[in-house]
Amino acid sequence: MSGRRVAFLGLGAIGAPMAAHLAADTLTVWNRTRARAEAFGRAHGARVAATPREAAAGAEVVLTCLPTSREVEALVDGPDGLLAGLGRGALFLDCTSGDPAASRRLAARLAGHGIAFADAPVSGGTNGAEAGTLAIMVGADGETFARAHPILALMGSRIEHVGPVGSGHALKAVNNALLAVNILAVGEGLAALVKAGVQARTALEVINASSGRSFVSETLVPERVLTGLWPRTFRLALLEKDVGIARRVLQETGVDGPLLDLAGELFGRARATLGESADHLEAIRLMESEAGVEIRG
Ligand code: NDP
Repeated sequence: MSGRRVAFLGLGAIGAPMAAHLAADTLTVWNRTRARAEAFGRAHGARVAATPREAAAGAEVVLTCLPTSREVEALVDGPDGLLAGLGRGALFLDCTSGDPAASRRLAARLAGHGIAFADAPVSGGTNGAEAGTLAIMVGADGETFARAHPILALMGSRIEHVGPVGSGHALKAVNNALLAVNILAVGEGLAALVKAGVQARTALEVINASSGRSFVSETLVPERVLTGLWPRTFRLALLEKDVGIARRVLQETGVDGPLLDLAGELFGRARATLGESADHLEAIRLMESEAGVEIRG
């Protein structure tokens, strides 16, 4: 173990494999469902804290990876909250795909307590988290970025300082909005092609050798839809949340977003129909059932 004292809060689908890369440090973990933290602690030799306060006490770096900024902010206050444990000089890295405005608010509050903050959302999925090859987009001042870099580099292979606090979350939201639009477009197009008598695999092979190819067509649909496996690694509800954040970023900057508005509505409908645990690719299931086809091959 190195001497660095690190705390990680939020051992979900992506948080747990990220935290596993920090186990060589003196790592303390906290999770709302304690059994998950205990299983992680046993597997990786990490200490398990009973409360966010206990996790933060004595930590030089605290990382959070929760569904939204709302849950992050809720963890900060109260007698058992992070602020009650964090000391002056600590570094707070929020790896949640969060909300830029909420992060600016939180950074200002933490600064009043002598705590530095960076938003550091990640991209690369659970596979990238396991491999330690995530792309991490950091919103922070230069000094905070320099402090954050060595710890983020344990979890990612591309650590990019993209601007001031909030800009990491803004970039992540726009990235995921592009993913959402693409899933919908690929799903619609393939449903129509299958109905028109083209085999889904053939259609994808041609698209992937042509100008319409994308990460969705090259990787996600072949691995998850054509196989009928539909693994649950990134919840559709979280992608819908990301589209909502991107729409707010467009509103705040005065940019019209008819495409993202429609994607938000369609993902909202998919979430209402498919529920909170469906995977993001399962939006295509809905299109399949509406079109009366299966995209397999
Ligand atoms: P999960 O739903 O798998 O896990 C959520 C985590 O947050 C769990 O540890 C859960 O605890 C905890 N949590 C939920 N609600 C609360 C609450 N009210 N108070 C305290 N803790 C809470 O999400 P992911 O790990 O997939 O995602 C986490 C973040 O990372 C999200 O912002 C997501 O958008 C982003 N992300 C996810 C990716 C992925 O591939 N999964 C890829 C890139 C970014 P409990 O165990 O008790 O449920």
